[in-house]
Amino acid sequence: MPRVPSEAPPSERALRSGARVELPASGALIPSGCACCGEPAAKTVLARAPNGEGLIVGYCEECRGHVGRDATRKLAGAVASGLLGGGLALTLPFAPYPLPMTALTAVVFVAALLPALVVFAWPRRPAPGHTADGAAVHFVKNGVLLCANDRFAKELARANGVPYERARFRERRLVPGFFVVPPLSALAALVTLLLSSPVVRIVNLGPERLFVDVDGRRVATVDPTSVEAPTAGIDVRVTAGPHELVARSAEREVSREEVTVQSGHAHLFAPASQGYCFWLETAEYGRTRAGAITREPLDTSDDFWVLPRDLGGWFRPAPAQSLAEARLTGGVVTVLRQAPCGLDL
Ligand SMILES: [Zn+2]
Ligand SMILES: [Zn+2]
Repeated sequence: MPRVPSEAPPSERALRSGARVELPASGALIPSGCACCGEPAAKTVLARAPNGEGLIVGYCEECRGHVGRDATRKLAGAVASGLLGGGLALTLPFAPYPLPMTALTAVVFVAALLPALVVFAWPRRPAPGHTADGAAVHFVKNGVLLCANDRFAKELARANGVPYERARFRERRLVPGFFVVPPLSALAALVTLLLSSPVVRIVNLGPERLFVDVDGRRVATVDPTSVEAPTAGIDVRVTAGPHELVARSAEREVSREEVTVQSGHAHLFAPASQGYCFWLETAEYGRTRAGAITREPLDTSDDFWVLPRDLGGWFRPAPAQSLAEARLTGGVVTVLRQAPCGLDL
């Protein structure tokens, strides 16, 4: 009697195709076999629909193992993405000469994307006898389940009396973290850069309103102020490094300066300040030289100055002795002052 060629084992057959099953709206009955290989299920895994609804799917011991490894790999990818992106976002802006905004954003975004890309491109070949490398079922949309194992899908459809449709199974390679982390890291880098950038105080002592550009980008419109006041002018944050500052009135260019903004320092840009003098006033509060005040004029031929790191105030006298004593135990306070030149101090 001729032998009937035996069918391929169920696990091999199962490899050949995938299928889509539209689940009933009110709770689906799930076949008892492993969703990947068809062996009796021993463990369960929750498959989540986009709307958050969960479906408990059975897997055998071995298949539960590869589903778990795939989930761990994705989590590791998202965590690595966050560590790399977040780490760079919090360190690169503090470089002595940080990258310009667009380059910084791009570098951090790409760096955060790399681990996600590695996980995405990770080769996925189901082991012999398996239909998937990760989870063998996942929702393609609410209520529609894509199954790797054709036979599992058929049983699922039959158990619930719903139609079943052949469809190519694709492993889910992405997790939401892959989309969220790179843009968040880039945003964090930008915010860090802006918050950590040195301050440039722009003061307008001329007669007309000034428009100030940094590297060709308008950063401030500054109204004239002639009286010394702590709030005079406008503070802008400019990244450390070389920049071009340009101040214009409505009719003409008032000043154009190639400057170097220094990390950790405050800066003063005072275009149209002819006739005004600036000086650093240092008050000492130590016991021996209490009350001593020294004045150091800024070079009037310039209109941009790098100020001391520990500037203690703008356009106001150093704190009075009694107040300072309450706050400080000795030490010095340096403030920036301003007045029309020639005024005897
Ligand atoms: Zn299995
Ligand atoms: Zn498997």
